[in-house]
Amino acid sequence: MEEVTLEQVLAAQDARTQRQNALLERYHMPVISFSMNLPGPVKDSPLIRRAYFTGRDTLLKSLRDECIKVLRKEETLAATGFEIQIAVKEEALTVKKLCVQIEDATTLGRLFNMDVLAADASKLDREEVGGSERGCIVCGAAGRGCASRRAHSVEELQAAARRIMVEYYAKADRQDVADKVTAALLEEVYTTPKPGLVDRANTGSHSDMTIETFERSAKALKPYWAHCVETGQKTAGAAPDETFSQLRELGKAAERDMLAATGGVNTHKGTIFTLGTVCGAIGRLWKAETPYSDVETITSECAAMTKAAVKADFAALTPDTARTTGEKLYLESGLRGIRGEMADGLLSVKNIALPMLHDAMEAGYNRNRAGVYALLALIARGRDTNMIARGGRKRAAVASKWAEELLFCCDFPPLTAVEVLNRKFVAENLSPGGCADLLATAYFLDSI
Ligand SMILES: [Zn+2]
Repeated sequence: MEEVTLEQVLAAQDARTQRQNALLERYHMPVISFSMNLPGPVKDSPLIRRAYFTGRDTLLKSLRDECIKVLRKEETLAATGFEIQIAVKEEALTVKKLCVQIEDATTLGRLFNMDVLAADASKLDREEVGGSERGCIVCGAAGRGCASRRAHSVEELQAAARRIMVEYYAKADRQDVADKVTAALLEEVYTTPKPGLVDRANTGSHSDMTIETFERSAKALKPYWAHCVETGQKTAGAAPDETFSQLRELGKAAERDMLAATGGVNTHKGTIFTLGTVCGAIGRLWKAETPYSDVETITSECAAMTKAAVKADFAALTPDTARTTGEKLYLESGLRGIRGEMADGLLSVKNIALPMLHDAMEAGYNRNRAGVYALLALIARGRDTNMIARGGRKRAAVASKWAEELLFCCDFPPLTAVEVLNRKFVAENLSPGGCADLLATAYFLDSI
């Protein structure tokens, strides 16, 4: 991180004034000047950039939303600071009011300087549009008292500014994850046609759930994903399996919320485990500068979090204690289902679903159709314990073979062939629910 000298800062301020004056002379309209309000000699870092772009994009979006015409924008990205000057066709007071609203809307806004110059070059005060004096970022005292007395050291001020940014993004990113997971769950259920599964055309092999059941479930689970990320963030310093044991408790509560929303139908039980773990891993790896790690790092973290617990779970199983179908299957055949998949680092998402999704999109298919192919590829792999639980091992193996044959004939088979496959799955009462969870996980990982 480069430190800038006082001379550089002063020169940058001069240059800014010149640009503002040029815009005022050319348009005779108000000019918004947005820059970051940061103490100390460092004006550029990955986190500062992120905050600046958040402020700039919020400002430009607000201008669009209010139908305020932008006459010209001039942006400067320099070591002395990032700034944008925007000449707008609107009353200065209206524009200032909007800027104060943005400054006050979030904690991050405390670091935004959104000055407004009227056409006559006079600078408007926050108070003119009902705004209050801004408080000290360290102690919260109103007014410029602390600054004029130099009540806090530069280090204290810098630490406070950093804390504002980190805390803001920690929360904003949790929300972003929750939004993206929810979108991925809906994208999965809307993907059509899906053999044996609920989609936009029919309810597959299910008589107890519809697309609305999944929509209600996805809505009810939304807060859970943010909690999982938060758990990851808070336990990032602890051992990976500590995060996982806390996630398990959250998962039980999420299951109750799901059942309450669906009237007792299991729509997303597998997803609560799969994507809950992924969200926890994202939280553990989270940094305000880089909210999302790459897929490889996230899936490795998932493996680190779950390996010991999954091993212990299976080791403790006896014919008397095995309760779920998955547990009984493990004792019979050693199939570890989704838990084993997770402990191995989501290999089928990484090596099968995501590459298929990308290949199909590269071949020109839309996301729906690419998702259908990713699902077929997952079914063809034949590890879906849901399918075995419903239809027995033999019929599940036959079903996987059907999917495999379809993909063997043609890289991207026609959807009518997938519809035929759906009818065969329904006739056999087969439902690859585990593959659907992995498809949702692939959609989510693709979206970050
Ligand atoms: Zn203070």
